Amino acid sequence: MVAKLQNLSDKEVEELRQEALDHYWMPARQMNDLKEPGALKVMTEGEGCWVTQSDGTRYFDACSGLWVKAAGYGRKKIADAVYETMLTGMTYHPTATTSPNSIRLASKVASISPDSESRVFLVSGGSEAVETAVKMAKKYHRNRGEPTRFKVISRLGSYHGATHLCISLGGGSVAFPGDYGPIMLGTPKVTQPYQYRCHHCEGKCNLKCAGDVERTIQAEGVEQVAAVIGEPISAAAGVAVPHPQYWPTLRAICDKYGVLLIADEVITGFGRTGKMFASEHWGLKPDIITVAKALTSGYLPIGAAIASKAVADTFIGGESETFRHLITFGGNPVSAAAALANLEIFEEEDLVGNSERMGDYMNQQLQTLYEHPIVGDIRWAKGLLFGIELVKDKATKEKFPKEAEIKKKLTQLMHQNKLFMFAQDTISLAPPLCINKDEVDHVVKTLNILISELEQELGIK
Ligand code: PLP
Repeated sequence: MVAKLQNLSDKEVEELRQEALDHYWMPARQMNDLKEPGALKVMTEGEGCWVTQSDGTRYFDACSGLWVKAAGYGRKKIADAVYETMLTGMTYHPTATTSPNSIRLASKVASISPDSESRVFLVSGGSEAVETAVKMAKKYHRNRGEPTRFKVISRLGSYHGATHLCISLGGGSVAFPGDYGPIMLGTPKVTQPYQYRCHHCEGKCNLKCAGDVERTIQAEGVEQVAAVIGEPISAAAGVAVPHPQYWPTLRAICDKYGVLLIADEVITGFGRTGKMFASEHWGLKPDIITVAKALTSGYLPIGAAIASKAVADTFIGGESETFRHLITFGGNPVSAAAALANLEIFEEEDLVGNSERMGDYMNQQLQTLYEHPIVGDIRWAKGLLFGIELVKDKATKEKFPKEAEIKKKLTQLMHQNKLFMFAQDTISLAPPLCINKDEVDHVVKTLNILISELEQELGIK
């Protein structure tokens, strides 16, 4: 299962870099970053968990691209499904006709979701899934005769996407809300369940972070609050694994006040945490779940807002109950074909089970990293999603100052050691779900070397 894009000579890559300098807008990066010769990295092949650069250098992708390549690289089955669907020449007009693939995908996703009777609104990515979920929540309340409910409570440090609404719910370190003037009205924030640095409990969880949600609902006015949104485990907040009672408590609070609970599973959905959906870890039944990334393993853009039957049923009626919402490319037949083929691979290879098994093994192996003076906390719920927080002082949990340039140094070391990961103060690890034991050993061994090198650069032994 090898995918080969094309062979590019060094000269061609250098020409591309020049072109990029003039015309290409790199997402969330400074254009000047491409000024250095050799700064442009072009990957031309992928197989399993490995990607190969145009010059032949192989990298291990320990973050599945950006948490997308769940089934790994080079999946011919997905490519074939896409090719065949493209050739059928079907017209695409989502309000007048619908493709069989889109309907089959909606049924499939509903059947594996926490509410098998749910209804699935297909979109083209994670931000659109979140936009859709929020609009759906507001209209749900209107349809039930409570049109004053418009506020959406979210958590500090979360990331829900890059559109204006999404950055109002949480900007993370990628999309700075402060760059764009006033954020959207009615987006109050609560604390993140981040036990390592929690100012409520310092690691001895008293669930005050969940209590924050109840206090905020009351302070904002119950009749104005439409929904609470959060990632089951927030990767953006440094893989913040909540206390086991956090989500059940939030569910009870939302039920008490008639507020919808939106679980943003754009990263955690489809096996990432050793269950099909992370919500399952706590028996949580969200009112709406947002998904994207791993639904096609990143082969084509797609996303979805999965509404529970109770939510979706309020939209059944006449014209005024209709959800007047449409994204042209949402759930287009070709992306839907990719998603269906991807989910077949999940079943054929038991990728969710492998995520659980390899996650257990990787967690054991990663404990060796605690021998490093700068490894403060290793966070893991289950499956293949880890956060390794680096600190200047383990005892006090003091962070590295900005001048230490941890992110920049880690990025350089990541390239030197041929290991892709998402590197900030916390290293995020989320390898493809098809990883095997030898590959886990490779990742842990390389990380050990990489962290030692970082310590050397920082003058820490
Ligand atoms: N929600 C979460 C939890 C995410 O991590 C992301 C993207 O990383 C999004 C939403 C937005 O997804 P997209 O980038 O596909 O718009």
